[in-house]
Amino acid sequence: MVFCDPADRIVGFIAVSNYNGDVSSPNKLITDYRFELVEDHHSPGSGRYGVRVILPADISTSFPYLNAVLNNTLYDHENSILIGTNNQRRYAFRPHEIQAGMVEDPSETPKIAEEVIELVNRVWEEHESITPSFRERKLPTVYEIYKLLPGTNCKECGYPTCLACAADMRNGVISLEVCPLLAKPEYKQNREQIITLFSSCQTNR
Ligand code: SF4
Repeated sequence: MVFCDPADRIVGFIAVSNYNGDVSSPNKLITDYRFELVEDHHSPGSGRYGVRVILPADISTSFPYLNAVLNNTLYDHENSILIGTNNQRRYAFRPHEIQAGMVEDPSETPKIAEEVIELVNRVWEEHESITPSFRERKLPTVYEIYKLLPGTNCKECGYPTCLACAADMRNGVISLEVCPLLAKPEYKQNREQIITLFSSCQTNR
């Protein structure tokens, strides 16, 4: 179903789904969910899409295990936010929501939603054999990122402003590669500082 929500300017299609796997298994963390194709609310009309999966059940107990198996994670245990990569797709996990970044083909939305549900359920099924990781890399603030962007608001990234772009960099749905200006020699230092910013926010528990 295609829909348009004028209140928050998010556009997409929405589906309600039950998990198709073995819902009778007590080891399944997610047995029910719905998903939406969402257009980035910072840049309506840009054609930048992501998938949002909405979950009735709280999945935050799986975060230390997902933190152990995903790549390039950013984890804030106290605030129950986990961002990580699996099979080159970037995900942002919150207790009742998962966002998958950058959908090239909107028709793949159901498949992308199912993939991440399978991922969480697989990790949860195997969690007794996984050593949980409470290693945290907390997110930098939007302003910290914004200060290091070129600040031209040139829109080449598809966002109307550098601030909007910084917000989604922080959310983990895009990487700094989205800003072509950062590849220019005059912004080399800014680029390196952003990389350092994301990698230096690390504490060990
Ligand atoms: S491309 Fe870079 S400089 Fe231009 S608006 Fe986007 S973040 Fe700002």
